[in-house]
Amino acid sequence: MKDLVIIGSGPGGMSAAIYAVRSGMDFVILEKGASGGQILGTSDVENYPGFIDPVAGYELADKMHGQCVRLGAVFQNTEAIGLKKENGIFKIETTDGIIESKTVIAVTGSSNRKLAVPGEAEFTGRGVSYCATCDGAFYRGKTVAAVGGGNAALEEAIFLTRFAEKVYLIHRRDKFRAEHIVIERMKSNSKIEIIYDSIIEKINGAEKVTSVSILNKKTETKSELNLDGVFIFIGYNPNNAILPKEILNEWGEAEVDMNMQTAIEGLYAAGDIRSGSKKQILMACADGATAAMSAYEYLSSL
Ligand SMILES: Cc1cc2nc3c(=O)[nH]c(=O)nc-3n(C[C@H](O)[C@H](O)[C@H](O)COP(=O)(O)OP(=O)(O)OC[C@H]3O[C@@H](n4cnc5c(N)ncnc54)[C@H](O)[C@@H]3O)c2cc1C
Repeated sequence: MKDLVIIGSGPGGMSAAIYAVRSGMDFVILEKGASGGQILGTSDVENYPGFIDPVAGYELADKMHGQCVRLGAVFQNTEAIGLKKENGIFKIETTDGIIESKTVIAVTGSSNRKLAVPGEAEFTGRGVSYCATCDGAFYRGKTVAAVGGGNAALEEAIFLTRFAEKVYLIHRRDKFRAEHIVIERMKSNSKIEIIYDSIIEKINGAEKVTSVSILNKKTETKSELNLDGVFIFIGYNPNNAILPKEILNEWGEAEVDMNMQTAIEGLYAAGDIRSGSKKQILMACADGATAAMSAYEYLSSL
């Protein structure tokens, strides 16, 4: 029986682990992929304190993981596929069996939202990507589009200009949701051309992507844009499949109080998965630390 099981080893999960190990809890971190979560797909991070110059997402993930390992945290590469509480004990079903624990922190983050247009699924990995860091270098000297209007879309569009000759930024509105500094930086990049008020209706190609069909929602005109790749950054869906429905809000995020406590005693949610999250690394880390401290206080009170 564990004191704590942390589900997910993104920045939130690894911060929870740092606090859990230092408070002496017997715990394990479950991760179905690679430690780092979404930051593994982030090109440069420049808003996480402690780094004078921008740090590559994978490098930040590696440092967090190394810190956890040095402190003695135990990672288990497995997927949590079920979670229930019976007689005061959590049973976490994983692809490798059931783990019992007194407390659980769900730090399962979020996944890329899809455009849900014809051609998207068909050409994923053949011109459609959700990760500029992973795939940007394949488009050296080519023409690509970045889709979206938030920080991630703009930052990744800027990153893509390191490789691509031309980057179209396709945004369905005429205003961006990103931070002022990011908008200014994107607008001053001569390789980026903004296509406002437009949505992609279809992604076309044969072996690989060759064009996208675009609809301008204001003028209702349709056009076809020739390109080699489409990078989609239009938001995220919470990874909530294992969470009890009664703790989820209308957006599928886990409702928590200021201690990251859900309505189920001993079950905490932190980072992007929790309600009201600002969906940034710093906040995910703070949430993870808060959740681990709360779990420790709860265990101490038993
Ligand atoms: C392209 C992009 C650029 C970004 N740029 C920045 C930036 O510059 N600055 C910034 O502050 N933020 C940035 N963000 C946001 C930031 O990455 C997230 O807010 C942060 O990673 C959230 O951390 P998390 O730990 O809550 O979740 P995640 O990072 O999503 O990690 C969740 C982890 O849980 C694992 N997991 C999920 N379900 C299960 C399961 N059932 N069993 C086992 N494991 C599971 C996943 O595999 C994943 O590793 C960016 C995000 C993207 C996509």
